[in-house]
Amino acid sequence: MPAQPQLLDQLPPDRLYLDGRWTAPHTTTPIDVENPATGERLGQVAAADPEDVHEAVLAAERAFPAWAALEPGERADHLDALRAAMTDRAADLAELVTAELGTPIRFSRAVQVGLPLRVLESTSALLRDPGFAVPERLGHSLVLRDPVGVVGGITPWNYPLHQAVAKIAGAFAAGCPVVLKPSALTPLSALALAQLADRAGLPPGVLTVVPGSGPVVGEALVRHPGVAMVSFTGSTTAGARVAALAGERLARVALELGGKSASVVLPGADLPRAVRRTVDSCLLNAGQTCTAQTRLLVRHDQYAEAVDLAVAATQRYRPGDPTDPETRLGPLVSADHHRTVTEHIARAVSDGARLAVDGREAPGPDGRGHYCGPTVVVDADPGAAIAQQEVFGPVLTVLSYRDEEEAVRIANGTPYGLAGAVWAADDDTATAVARRLRSGQVDVNGAPFNPVAPFGGYGHSGYGRELGPHGVAEFQQLKAVQLPL
Ligand code: NAD
Repeated sequence: MPAQPQLLDQLPPDRLYLDGRWTAPHTTTPIDVENPATGERLGQVAAADPEDVHEAVLAAERAFPAWAALEPGERADHLDALRAAMTDRAADLAELVTAELGTPIRFSRAVQVGLPLRVLESTSALLRDPGFAVPERLGHSLVLRDPVGVVGGITPWNYPLHQAVAKIAGAFAAGCPVVLKPSALTPLSALALAQLADRAGLPPGVLTVVPGSGPVVGEALVRHPGVAMVSFTGSTTAGARVAALAGERLARVALELGGKSASVVLPGADLPRAVRRTVDSCLLNAGQTCTAQTRLLVRHDQYAEAVDLAVAATQRYRPGDPTDPETRLGPLVSADHHRTVTEHIARAVSDGARLAVDGREAPGPDGRGHYCGPTVVVDADPGAAIAQQEVFGPVLTVLSYRDEEEAVRIANGTPYGLAGAVWAADDDTATAVARRLRSGQVDVNGAPFNPVAPFGGYGHSGYGRELGPHGVAEFQQLKAVQLPL
C-alpha cells in the first residue's frame, strides 16, 4: 500500500468547516476513519454535534439571500471554479476515496471523481442556458421558480463525492445553500470537497460540512426549523425515519434510497454481452451501488447458458489491493457491512438456493480487510429474501422466466424501483418492455449512464429526482404571479 493520500495531510483532523472557516467543534470525540482494505486506522475528523448543526444552519440562513440573488451565470461561475479546483486535485481526490472506501483506483478516477466533475459541468451549462431563468407563461400568469431555502444534504458512503456533488450542484443552481452531513464512514472526501470549494471562493455559509452519526447529527439537521428541505440519500430504513421526522414540521424531502434492480434479457438479445454487462453492473464498486443490476432475468431455456456465462464473467473480478490499477474488486466498506453481506449469502442457501460461485471463499489479497468475492446465486425463488432484499455486496441472483409477462412481473415484483436494464434483439422491443418497468431509470441494450437524466426511484427506492433540470427543480418552489388581463 502507498503512503497516506496527499489530501489527508492537508485536512485539519480536529476542525469543522463552518461559515467559511475551520472551527473547533463543541465535542472533543473525533470520528476515526478506517481503510477497509487493511482494517487499519486511516485518519480522524472532528465530529459535529447538534449545537454545531445549529450554527451551520444559521450560517446557511445568513448566506441564503445573497446567494439566491446571484444571477444564474454567477452561480455557474462558482460551479466552474469548484470544478477547476477539483480537476486540479483529481488524482489526489481519487486516492482519498480509494483510501476511505476501498474502491479500485481506476474506478475512483473514472467514476468517483469523474462523475461529479461531469455533474458540475452539466449543471453549469444548464445555468448558462439563456432559457434557464425565463419564467413560464401560462395564460395571464407568470410562473416563477424560487429557491426552496436552506438544504440539509445527507449522504451515504458508497459514492461519497458524487452524492455530495449531486446535491450541492442542484441546490446551488437553484440558489440554495447546503449543510452537508456525510456518512461517518467516509467523511474525508466531503471535507476535501469543502476545502476545495473554500479555496475556489465559495461565499461563507453556502456550504458547511457536519460529519457525525445519523441518529444524532443527521436527525438534528432534519429537525432543524431553519432547514427548508432535506435531500437524503441512503437506506430505505433511514429514509423512512427522515421522512417521518421532516413530516412533523412539513419540511420538504427528497429521498434517494436502495434498489434491487433487474436486468431483463429477452430472447434474441446478445446473451453473452447482456450477461457480461449485467455482471459488470452488479459488481461495480464491490456491489455497493444503489443502481446495481443484482437480478439477472433470462428465459428458462437460456438459464443454464446464462449461469455459465455469469460465472465466467465473475472470474475477471478477483479481490485485490484497491490502489493497484489492475484491481477490479476492492473490499466492502466495513466489518459490519461484510457481516451483513455474508449473512445474506448464508440465508440464500438456507432458503433453498444454490451458489454457482461463493465469494465468501475469496479473502483479500493479504488476508486483511473486509473482502468478499463475487457470488452467483442460482435456483432462488423470486420471492426469496435474496431476490427481494438489497444486499449491497457483489452478489448476483440469476432468475428464470417463462414469457415476457412473467419477466415483467418478476422485474416489478420487489418493493424497490430504482433502475434496471432490458436487452432485446432490437431497441424498439427492449424499449417497449422498459416502459412497463416500474423504476426510475432503465437502460436499453447497454445504453450508458446519462448525468442530466432525472435520477430517482419508485416505491421503496424513494421519491424526488436528482441531476439535470429535474434535479434543480427539486430545490425550487413554484410561484404564480397573475398579471392584469
Ligand atoms: P444509511 O441509510 O445507513 O446512511 C445514509 C446517511 O444517512 C448517512 O450519512 C447516515 O449517517 C445518515 N443517517 C442514518 N440514519 C439517519 C437518521 N435517523 N436521520 C438522519 N440521517 C441518518 O445508508 P448507507 O449504509 O450509508 O448507504 C447505503 C444505502 O444507500 C443503500 O441502501 C443504497 O442503496 C443507498 N443509496 C441510494 C442511492 C440513490 O441515489 N438512490 C445512492 C447511493 C446509495
